[in-house]
Amino acid sequence: MVSAESVRGVRASLGTLARAGVLRHVKVMEHPRTAYLLIPGRCSGGCLFCPHWLDDRRLSRVSWPEVNVGEILGAQWRFKRVCIQSVLRRMFWKDLVEIASLFEIPISIATNPVGERELWELKRVSQILGIGLDAMSRRVFERVRKPGSFYQYLRFLDKSLRVYGKGKVYVHLIAGLGESPEEALKTISHVYESGGEVALFAFTPVPGTPLQSESRPPLSYYRFLQVVTHFLRNGIPLREVRSLDPDDYKEAFLTSGCPDCNRPFYNESPSGDCYNFPSLELLERNWDRVRRELEGAARYFRLLP
Ligand code: SF4
Repeated sequence: MVSAESVRGVRASLGTLARAGVLRHVKVMEHPRTAYLLIPGRCSGGCLFCPHWLDDRRLSRVSWPEVNVGEILGAQWRFKRVCIQSVLRRMFWKDLVEIASLFEIPISIATNPVGERELWELKRVSQILGIGLDAMSRRVFERVRKPGSFYQYLRFLDKSLRVYGKGKVYVHLIAGLGESPEEALKTISHVYESGGEVALFAFTPVPGTPLQSESRPPLSYYRFLQVVTHFLRNGIPLREVRSLDPDDYKEAFLTSGCPDCNRPFYNESPSGDCYNFPSLELLERNWDRVRRELEGAARYFRLLP
């Protein structure tokens, strides 16, 4: 095991630092059940929706102060999981391995494609892999200027499933980057048919990024994708959506991802529309609203078989 002192530092989301007791003055409405960490350094990627390559303290709408990893290690038992996210830079996988090997709670690593040897190294120190595909089609992948190619990521999904096993690879997908509902349906279905899982995110226009003026996805569209993801995850045929009441599948609207990943307010402000509910309690308080959003999603549900 590597000692904590050997790691210079790590970035952690504000919510993680509050839960760990590192930032005592930060008040959070919902605590993260997972500790979200980010390796330091600026990403060389340049995706149009992401603020990280402009300012490495930011990812989505969240701030990530840098701390000594020892501060999180000492509080790791307050979390059910740790998720270590990568940026695209030289030898990034080594930092992922080094940081992951310090923790004793369940570990997820979220990465960009790496080679076979590096993948086995990641597997040695983690149980679940996240893949930041983000785009739901080749067209969108190119539009938002992600480095690499859509098919390279899909090949990496297959390779990762061979290394981690079925159900242990979560593909991060962002709804609202310009995909059609049909493209979204196709990609989410492909991930599940391959043996993977989906972690759904909502596009968040971040000030300063080239996509800062674009709109967030309609909530009704997002609810539709949450339902599709939930049904596929649980092996329920999509045609059964019509015969079930939303009360029967409330969990569909909770944050999707690894066990205990709830990402509170990663995509939304606590005072605005909620895309991913981080807890059942918050969902229950907003349930009437979610039901109304689902009523507005009828045209999307007509796409289902
Ligand atoms: S689903 Fe959550 S815990 Fe899993 S890799 Fe993605 S962000 Fe991390």
